[in-house]
Amino acid sequence: MTVQKIIGEKGQDVTTVTSNDTIEAAVKTLESHKIGAVVVSDGAGGVAGILSERDIVKWIARQGAEVLNHPVSELMTTEVVTCRREDTIADVMGLMTRGKFRHVPVVEEAKLIGIISIGDVVKHRLAEAEFEAQAMRDYIATG
Ligand code: AMP
Repeated sequence: MTVQKIIGEKGQDVTTVTSNDTIEAAVKTLESHKIGAVVVSDGAGGVAGILSERDIVKWIARQGAEVLNHPVSELMTTEVVTCRREDTIADVMGLMTRGKFRHVPVVEEAKLIGIISIGDVVKHRLAEAEFEAQAMRDYIATG
């Protein structure tokens, strides 16, 4: 199964913020969209960074709530690992496992075209496992 299948089903909309937005604004975006990370847009359709709830928790723990007034650019991760629509879900799982993160933006020709979260991966792996189990039951029943 490919990344294309997931973004084909869930859509290509990605919630973004800009690097000049405040952390407080980003927190409100995370809460209103019920998501765990936002892609930081570069203003030209590409990816400048990613900001996850973990980044925010880490910096509030270290520096206090004053961090909420800082710009996203100060807390975001700039070395973003991305994937392509033709990659497999297994490829993306490998990226998440090795990088210890739960979000992978999908990029094509330097433009953001989707995002895969660990929730999407789990959902599709479960559907795949159920499909295989059913196929096995059908095979046994016809034997
Ligand atoms: P997450 O598990 O996705 O909430 O993120 C954990 C940490 O990894 C945070 O510091 C994020 O900024 C960072 N991060 C999340 N996704 C990526 C990614 N695709 N590439 C690089 N870093 C990431």
